[in-house]
Amino acid sequence: MEFKKLTTEVKTVENNELKETEHVKCLIIGSGPAGYTAAIYASRANLFPVMYEGMQPGGQLTTTTEVENFPGYPQGITGPEMMEDLKKQAARFGTDIRWGMASKADLTSRPFKITIDHEKVISAETVIIATGATAKYLGLPDETKYAGQGVSACATCDGFFYRGKVVAVVGGGDTAAEEALYLAGLCKKVYLIVRRNVLRASKVMADRVEKKENIEVLWEHQTVGLFGENGVEGANLIYKKGTTEEKSVKINIDGFFLAIGHKPNSDIFVPAIETDNNGYIKTVPGTPKTNIPGVFACGDVQDHVYRQAITAAGSGCMAAIEAERFLAENE
Ligand code: NDP
Repeated sequence: MEFKKLTTEVKTVENNELKETEHVKCLIIGSGPAGYTAAIYASRANLFPVMYEGMQPGGQLTTTTEVENFPGYPQGITGPEMMEDLKKQAARFGTDIRWGMASKADLTSRPFKITIDHEKVISAETVIIATGATAKYLGLPDETKYAGQGVSACATCDGFFYRGKVVAVVGGGDTAAEEALYLAGLCKKVYLIVRRNVLRASKVMADRVEKKENIEVLWEHQTVGLFGENGVEGANLIYKKGTTEEKSVKINIDGFFLAIGHKPNSDIFVPAIETDNNGYIKTVPGTPKTNIPGVFACGDVQDHVYRQAITAAGSGCMAAIEAERFLAENE
């Protein structure tokens, strides 16, 4: 089925502000592997998608160095290069890729109204949310200083570079436990830096961590800085901060992994869109369908379990196929 490109632009005045409105068949919000893959499929299906790239065009992968686990790149590829390739592929089939952030979403009725950068309103027949998630950092200046030089927020992405080395994971939840166990399979030693005297992780994960010989849990430690000449060589910690037993501890490490949680970028879609307690968009299992017909979610904004580029790309494909079906059924 062929879809006509709608180019209607309407100018309206709302609260004394001039707002431009543009009507589109398919609006894609976010530009990681999920968003670009959705764009490739949606443009090849003649949905003439418009994509707003968001604050970090290319998403989280643009902050990693080498990507070696995305099928099709036997020599590996850098995150930014891969995102640039995906962008070119989406543009090649006609995706209208634009710079801008969705700042407000009215999903109460179709067509949906998405405000971009607080000024322009896009009226969309279907919306694909691919806004991703943002890894939480401790907020130390050293995390920025050593970004890509020993600091990572993804063990599955970067752990391989630390084979046979000593690394630290910060956090006490399921992600930290999972990342520490993953790294323990690759590295000589893994320190798990936990701020309390207990893990938040599920019992089964906590047990696995405590039984793993090459994981040393540093209970009640907080990281205050990193050091190293050419990349991370160690971390400065404080034990029992604020108590009479407080003392400084120095550990020598080659890699420092943050695992203190992710924040899904779903705020502007709530409460219309249903999320779980952590803000991840709920989808019908095995599909990208949200609680609102015509609105689909793909990638990390709806996935706290796998969080891989390849799974995000797969879910982006599914979202575009569902958007196409939805339009065909509701035209
Ligand atoms: P969580 O919010 O569960 O855990 C975050 C951890 O980081 C906590 O231990 C917390 O400490 C610690 N933390 C937070 N801020 C700081 C800080 N500033 N300094 C030091 N430590 C800090 O996040 P997760 O990503 O682990 O998990 C998110 C959700 O995803 C959970 O529901 C989890 O169960 C789920 N999940 C499920 C998996 C699975 O089923 N396979 C795998 C991974 C996650 P404190 O405990 O003191 O608050």
